[in-house]
Amino acid sequence: MSSPFQFGVGSNVVGAPQSGTSMRILREWMVPAEGVREADGTAQEMAVLFERLPPELSQHLQHHFGERLKELNEIYLQLGQLPECIFEDNTSGKKKRELLSQEPCSQGHIDLFADFFLSQQDSAETTKRKGISGTLHRVSLITHPLYRPEKVLGVAVRVGRALQGLLDTMTWGKQFWVDMAQKHQPLLLIGKPGVGKTTVLREIASTLASDTSLNVVVIDKTCEIAGDGVTPHPAIGRSRWMPVGVANLQHVIMREAVENQSPDVIIVDEISTPLEVQAARTISQRGVQLIATIHGVTLPEIILDKERGSLVGGVTSVTLSGQEAERRADKRKQVQKRNTEPVFTAALELRSRSSWIYHSNVKDAADSYFENERFNAVELCPGKAIDVKVIPMEGHFDYCRACVGGVPCGLHKNTAVPHHNAAFQEATNNHHHHQAPRRRKAGRGR
Ligand SMILES: [Zn+2]
Repeated sequence: MSSPFQFGVGSNVVGAPQSGTSMRILREWMVPAEGVREADGTAQEMAVLFERLPPELSQHLQHHFGERLKELNEIYLQLGQLPECIFEDNTSGKKKRELLSQEPCSQGHIDLFADFFLSQQDSAETTKRKGISGTLHRVSLITHPLYRPEKVLGVAVRVGRALQGLLDTMTWGKQFWVDMAQKHQPLLLIGKPGVGKTTVLREIASTLASDTSLNVVVIDKTCEIAGDGVTPHPAIGRSRWMPVGVANLQHVIMREAVENQSPDVIIVDEISTPLEVQAARTISQRGVQLIATIHGVTLPEIILDKERGSLVGGVTSVTLSGQEAERRADKRKQVQKRNTEPVFTAALELRSRSSWIYHSNVKDAADSYFENERFNAVELCPGKAIDVKVIPMEGHFDYCRACVGGVPCGLHKNTAVPHHNAAFQEATNNHHHHQAPRRRKAGRGR
């Protein structure tokens, strides 16, 4: 089975590297002229938000900040404190707090939201967090637990926005995703909070659900994907939507989705508990494509994680026999190895809004990590897929565009790589003969 990045000789390969400095472009596509933009309906949802705020603060916000409202991220009101709003730069992610008034928040301001919460049919344990119906905005309460009933001291309103155009910018659009779904290739999205994992999930959901051959189910742990109403936010398109309600029951709903909804694709936000890891394995064993997010930075961080590691192969310590150890360059008896078959065959690291790393074969990536061997991955940037060399480091991967020609770049030529396993370094120092690269296991994906 070929990866979507393999092409006939010469096709689409521009600027093959002669020296260590040129990068190798695997594929190019047209980025939509409108770029990444707010989804339709965002203006109406902002209007709903402005109506919820205390009128004088809402007016100040709308009249004073103009174009910057596109970057409005949060509104914070706390009794006795000056009301603030927070803007977040769309490209750098940098935050800036601004005052909404010179007067401290009053009980009246807070009461507007306390009412909002009390009027919901909530069980007490649900959460102090609620979406504003019909939007992706979320309200969180700060309360004083020593009061009976708990006194609401403050509210933080997170502004939620759906985006569109992200998948057409960072990948060659629908076909990339539909191909993966039709091959049932489970995909793990790895990223830090704020890098836009949930935003990407929404667009994946609507993109896949627009294909009439696929039945897509979105499992919504905290109603962050499709909002808090009784109907899903339009950002997930024609996907089926299963809210979880109580976050620690996500694994139950994951199983329910497979058993009752005959899905082709299941989309899950934030796999974190051992029960969810187990449910993820069940789903992928049933031949359903699972697309899930996970909190982290690079693949090795997940591999080494105690609770979630098995999603991508995990780690185990192996004691070699004397003979086996003797054959190793480092003569070590205790070595780390991949523990199990990964649940996810592919992974996408969301490093920023304009740089994603695609690992098409998680199993090989995990093996290479433990063997300290360099291998290739694909960096997705707006309009381009670029060949990158993956350099295993202690607990993470480094990626290099310049190393790909088989000749390490200046930077990585003699790097004494600090690593969990000194084998690599010693092997390079002690052996003058060139070791044949370890043969890749046949078959990419599955
Ligand atoms: Zn390099």
